[in-house]
Amino acid sequence: MNRTFIVAGNWKMYGSRADNASLIEAIASQFPPAPLAQTIVCPPFVYLQEVGRLLRDAEIPVALGAQDVCAEAQGAYTGEVSATMLKDVGCGYVIVGHSERRLGYGEGDELIARKFAAAQAKALIPILCVGEQLAEREAGRTQEVVARELDAVLELCGAEAFSHAVVAYEPCWAIGTGRNATPEQAEEVHRFIRDRIAARNARIADGVRILYGGSLKAGNAGELFAQPDVDGGLIGGASLKAEEFLAILAAARP
Ligand code: PEP
Repeated sequence: MNRTFIVAGNWKMYGSRADNASLIEAIASQFPPAPLAQTIVCPPFVYLQEVGRLLRDAEIPVALGAQDVCAEAQGAYTGEVSATMLKDVGCGYVIVGHSERRLGYGEGDELIARKFAAAQAKALIPILCVGEQLAEREAGRTQEVVARELDAVLELCGAEAFSHAVVAYEPCWAIGTGRNATPEQAEEVHRFIRDRIAARNARIADGVRILYGGSLKAGNAGELFAQPDVDGGLIGGASLKAEEFLAILAAARP
């Protein structure tokens, strides 16, 4: 199956209105006329609407995504942002289960599965992050951890839900550390993820985009993107630098 690549930038809690405008301007000035990947940026909540407007004004085909979503549809949930609200300000995608939320804010598999479902209920495409910690890899538990994180969503939403979802394999030890997974390590886990979905629905598994994330940069994107089950990247640090982000986009293959 021919899977269109995705290159998504997770801006995390960085930026300002001025920084965002400069970044979009720099990306727009060099944006390829016929990119080989669907390109997405995920700014902090407060900047979503304005970044959406900047993208429209720049006339570049870059979609808007959020970094998180509330599992509830609406109500007395102080500080939370619903899927309806994200849709309302122009988001098409939302990251769920990023390891910085799993580990830093105690988000568990069940909550993340409910966030995934809440996003899809409002026609947002969830980007489900899964990945092991260093100690888990060293203990030979990578597949067990990734399977558990994936299964929580498969159980709640079914394999068919992955026809409108993206998976990101992000080994925690590679995020923000400058140490990326080797292409072989990434491919092994990506294949495992696809096979796990295929065990329930082979057709859906064949079409699902599985992104690699973790210290992805211009210098390593080519070899990671060359792997057969790597369908693009979720990029943190390097997505804040226009040149790096565009170079990663240029490494996408048809
Ligand atoms: C991320 O935040 O999802 C990420 C992969 O970060 P970095 O590229 O900085 O490792």
